[in-house]
This record gives sequence, C-alpha cells and structure tokens, in this order.
Amino acid sequence: MHTIGRFAPSPSGRMHLGNVLCALLAWLSARRQNGRYLLRIEDLDAMRCPRRYADLILDDLRWLGLDWDGEVPYQSERAAVYETYETMLRGKGLLYPCFCSRAALHAASAPHLSDGRVVYAGTCRGLTAEQAAEKWKTRAPATRVRVPDETVSFTDGVFGAYSENLARECGDFIIRRSDGVFAYQLAVVVDDALSGVTEVVRGADLLSSTPRQIWLHRLFGFPPPAFFHIPLLCDHDGRRLSKRDEDLDLGRLRQRFSPEQVVGALAYAAGLTERPEPAAARELIPHFSWARIPRRDLFLPDLFR
Ligand code: GLU
Repeated sequence: MHTIGRFAPSPSGRMHLGNVLCALLAWLSARRQNGRYLLRIEDLDAMRCPRRYADLILDDLRWLGLDWDGEVPYQSERAAVYETYETMLRGKGLLYPCFCSRAALHAASAPHLSDGRVVYAGTCRGLTAEQAAEKWKTRAPATRVRVPDETVSFTDGVFGAYSENLARECGDFIIRRSDGVFAYQLAVVVDDALSGVTEVVRGADLLSSTPRQIWLHRLFGFPPPAFFHIPLLCDHDGRRLSKRDEDLDLGRLRQRFSPEQVVGALAYAAGLTERPEPAAARELIPHFSWARIPRRDLFLPDLFR
C-alpha cells in the first residue's frame, strides 16, 4: 500500500517547536517510504484561526524544507462534507442534542480520568422530544454521539498497545458545537479518510482521542489509518512546553537560527541522530526509523535553552 502521511495543524498561533517536531517526523516517515505528504489546515474555529496564521504555517514549512503534495484543504470550507457524515450518524440514531452548559458538565458527578478528561454523565441522553423542544427555547444545543459499551484497541507505532472502553473512559462526545461549528473529532476522521491518509503522526496529547476516532472510522466504513504519537517535548525541569513559551515559536526561532539548526536539533532530541548537528530535512530521510523514537518525554535541545 502506498503511504500517505499528513500534517494537520490548527492555525491558532505561530508554529511551536512541538508542532515542528510533528511536521518533521510525519514528513520523514512519509518520504522514507516514498510516500505522499499532505498538509491540511484545521481551522474549524475560524474566529480563533485567522488566515494569516495559516499563511505563516505554509511559509514556515517551506523555510524548514518540508514540502507537501497537492492542494491544501481548509476545514473551515468543508462544513458541507462534515454534514453528510453527521446525517449518516443521525440516520443510525446515534445523535442527540445536549443542552448542558460548561459549568454543568464540570459539576456533574462524572468520573474524572487521570489525564483530566471528564466522562460525560449522560444528562441529555434520555431527553424526550418534548423535553428537548422545551430546552431548545432557551439554549442552542451541541450535538453528541452515543458511544457503545465497547473497548477499542490498537497498536500505536510509538507507544504500543492502547485500549479504551468508550462508554466508561470516553463517554458520548460532541461532534458539533452549539454554535454549529463541527468538532475536531468528526472533521479529522472524515478528512483523513477521504484524503486516503494511511498514517497519522501527531503529538502524544492526542493519543487518548484515537479510540473514538477509530470507532468513527469503522462506523463510516473506512479502514482506520496507522497511528504514531510523538512524545511531548519538555524542558530540563520536566515541564512540558506549551504555546505560552513564545521564545520557542517559529517567529522567534527564525530570527535566531537557520532551518538546518532547528531541524538538526529536533532530530537529535527525537533520537534520530547521534549529535545535535545542523542538518537539512532531506538529509535525514535515510536515518529515519520509528524504532529510534523513544516512548518517554523528549528533552528540549540545549540550543533552545
Ligand atoms: N489540529 C490538531 C493540532 O494542531 C492536530 C490534529 C491531528 O493531527 O489529528 O493539534
């Protein structure tokens, strides 16, 4: 099977070192297999994702030497496509309106999982049509999909075996927000499947989203792609980097370093090379192997300290 990889950033800010690492490893994996590398802009929430950030992502990828194949789809323009799949779920009787406020969700006596996620208590699951119509008068609902009491298991290309019981550890989840914007969980599955993506490479923060995405893939009749989750970058105190570390966004980094310095340092942090020497992305292709990527948090290269 021909490999099709992808990078799917949300342009809510400038690319950060962690995003660059994902973009780089997804690109190396695809190119190592002579595969295609797609770019998709995940700007579902158009208010939070101004077009200028998307333009900067394209420019930053070119600067890094990471080329992509084909047109770049923007999720903000694809609501009609997502609607088709929403209709399919509705036809299966799996959707219901949820009127819970954010405060109500957190107050509900639902189990909080160790990673801070809250399992939906099912408050609106059993509303009758009359009850829903009454609530509709004061509040626009989000749309939730009803998950079965089923365990989804898969083997992550980095983290290994992973499984989750959808009802107990995930709960019914939102596929469309109350303002009509489609949720990431639905859009990502539809887009990866329709563009023929065979491998998804992304940050380990999305590992726990994968079971519900695999479930949606199967429900829609798509073969799920392979998944590779990349350990998160952390500083030497063990603190994970976040978007708040502005010194590490590409705007700043491009003023201080060459693309080869950034790429070489990240390749070293990810275990691909023996020394943190500057390297062009294409020079790393022959060195790439998933077996070299460690399962633990990765240390921020000294260069950026
Ligand atoms: N758009 C998501 C992000 O930037 C990534 C989604 C994915 O790779 O599945 O965090």
